[in-house]
Amino acid sequence: MMRFASVRGRASLVLSTNAVGGVAADLERASKGRFSADPMLAYGRWHDIRDLAASDLDSFGEPFTNDQLFAPSPRPAQIFGIGLNYREHANETGAPIPDTPLTFTKFASSVNTPNGDVAITVPTADWEVELVAVIGKGGRDIAEADGWDAVAGLCVGQDISDRLLQRATQPPQFSLGKSRRGYSPFGPWLTDARVVADRDALTMHCQRNGVEVQRTSTDDMIFSVPQLVSYLSGIVELLPGDVIYTGTPSGVGGARKPPQFLAPGDVLVSTIDGLGSITNRCTSN
Ligand code: ZN
Repeated sequence: MMRFASVRGRASLVLSTNAVGGVAADLERASKGRFSADPMLAYGRWHDIRDLAASDLDSFGEPFTNDQLFAPSPRPAQIFGIGLNYREHANETGAPIPDTPLTFTKFASSVNTPNGDVAITVPTADWEVELVAVIGKGGRDIAEADGWDAVAGLCVGQDISDRLLQRATQPPQFSLGKSRRGYSPFGPWLTDARVVADRDALTMHCQRNGVEVQRTSTDDMIFSVPQLVSYLSGIVELLPGDVIYTGTPSGVGGARKPPQFLAPGDVLVSTIDGLGSITNRCTSN
């Protein structure tokens, strides 16, 4: 099972994992220079890297710790966020079920490391655990039937959201409220989309300070990953390493009565069973 990671900024293939990190093979060294150390250059050659990952790389294994993991796609040209993509979440916000994917951007400067701290500088910052898909070769006008083939891998992400800023204007424009510093952690690594069992029905959950606040199966999504790939690529060109945050389920803080928001000292643990877990501590600056 191929798992792709950025270990201290270098493209790597994860060989094994444990509670504090794992063992990974450096892609450039393991391929004797055939592939670059730059994670961004891996996505256009994903099929070739699959071949390398299928070979015995144990002699290239080097230990890493979880805090040495960087974003698997550190400089995506485009990050798409999908709003209201779970029925229960649409209901809790009082919004109708959308018939078109509600799409916004998270600007690339908001990318965080998977387990990075998030500075909470506003009183209305909220959590959103999400399935994140990273694009492989990309392209335009990708048919829904080819949607999964366009995805390199899957991981877990947090779409941290400043609710007040998200709705500061009328009509609302979500993008800035989703893009404060550190608001886009995802990882811990990418699991090859081709080998994820039950990739249309993954169990996803989020704990805040040890208390579960969100849980769903991704089969409750309104627009599936292949449908999102097809929809987006019919409008914009999807580029290697592009990131799609596919939407959050119910249980966000802002929809609670009374509303709850993130505060310095909070710890978010976001998990998708089979894909891994990310831990984000909230700090004051
Ligand atoms: Zn979201």
